[in-house]
Amino acid sequence: MNPTEKILYSRNHPYDAPVLKVKQLNSPDSDKETNHIEIDLSGSGLTYKPGDALGVYPVHHEEYVKELLEIVNATGDESVILDSDDETDLRHALSSMCSLNNITVKFLKLILSKVTDLEKSKELESYIKNRSELTDWDILDIFHKYPVENLKPQELVSTLANLSPRLYSIASSIKKHPGEVHLTVVKVVYEIHNRVRKGVASSMLGERVTPGDRIPVFIKESKFALPDNPATPIIMVGPGTGIAPFRAFLEEREMTKATGKNWLFFGDRKIKTDFLYQDEIEAYKKSGLLTNLDLAFSRDQEHKIYVQNRMKEKAAEIYQWLEDGACFYVCGDAKNMGKAVDLTLREIIQKQGGKTEEETKEYVSQMKKERRYQRDVY
Ligand SMILES: Cc1cc2nc3c(=O)[nH]c(=O)nc-3n(C[C@H](O)[C@H](O)[C@H](O)COP(=O)(O)OP(=O)(O)OC[C@H]3O[C@@H](n4cnc5c(N)ncnc54)[C@H](O)[C@@H]3O)c2cc1C
Repeated sequence: MNPTEKILYSRNHPYDAPVLKVKQLNSPDSDKETNHIEIDLSGSGLTYKPGDALGVYPVHHEEYVKELLEIVNATGDESVILDSDDETDLRHALSSMCSLNNITVKFLKLILSKVTDLEKSKELESYIKNRSELTDWDILDIFHKYPVENLKPQELVSTLANLSPRLYSIASSIKKHPGEVHLTVVKVVYEIHNRVRKGVASSMLGERVTPGDRIPVFIKESKFALPDNPATPIIMVGPGTGIAPFRAFLEEREMTKATGKNWLFFGDRKIKTDFLYQDEIEAYKKSGLLTNLDLAFSRDQEHKIYVQNRMKEKAAEIYQWLEDGACFYVCGDAKNMGKAVDLTLREIIQKQGGKTEEETKEYVSQMKKERRYQRDVY
């Protein structure tokens, strides 16, 4: 290749980036595990802005693939053809190319074609019609309940969905960490059908990669971004891993000497074990970069306190910041936190601004139009 030719890495052509560091952010006695991951982008030509996300292609746990290979009575060396027409071996296909979580209709039909028990066939037929009952199931669950014989490696691979990359909000400013990208990843672990299940990407990043390993990544640009005017005040609500883009925002504002005020609402379970990036956040408060800091640790007292409760306590001041043109950002869990924060923001605007419901809606939609209300919830 011509040395001046620029390689453009993308979702379809990811960059194999070396991992530099993996550090647990919760203390060991926490009931959560959040990891700070540093990845080397130097030499890749990849760059990003605060608010962008990093796409990561995960690999399934070796043990999981081993169990699956035993079940289908294969060695893993069998040759298979992927959707892309590329040829590979079964172990690689199951580890890196196929989703073992998504139960596809094609896969259920394959199992149905192999089972001989009438009762089991009926159950499978009903699942094919309505897969909603299988939302928590993975491929192993199906094989445990519906053991089959004579499954050919190619027919298995052809029925599985592709393993998709996972997105992570970037937790660093490239101005502060040239050639690097940082992530904040909480490990997904839960028990279902008497088996401990681990999230594919979050467990790979948290427990299976070590410095020097390479992982395929790409940048996913986002509209979630700092205001163009460095003097604009910003309010950031980011509990748990929601802190990630705000670490990037704060680093960027520090490096660019932006004059706008910065207010962070952060929370998690317990201050002693779950105050992610505590040293950095406290240092920013001390230096004055963080003008305001409000913390909500839900399990430090009998009654749960969340970021939205802290917002209510500061309702008048939040409204004043909004009136002064502040941008309001929220990042993290969509299901509970994202909704609660949205509701609280609307309540604050309505009460503090003495507005009707209609006027509040208009105020919020105007904020959105001006890109002064941005959400990165997942
Ligand atoms: C734009 C964007 C930014 C993101 N940023 C971050 C970030 O900064 N940090 C971060 O940690 N994550 C972030 N995420 C989420 C991340 O992309 C992954 O979805 C997450 O890490 C889980 O992926 P996984 O491969 O580990 O889990 P998977 O293997 O995909 O498993 C997750 C699935 O397991 C199931 N599940 C989980 N818990 C349970 C339970 N208790 N009971 C039953 N089923 C359950 C659910 O179906 C869930 O979808 C972001 C997502 C988006 C879209």
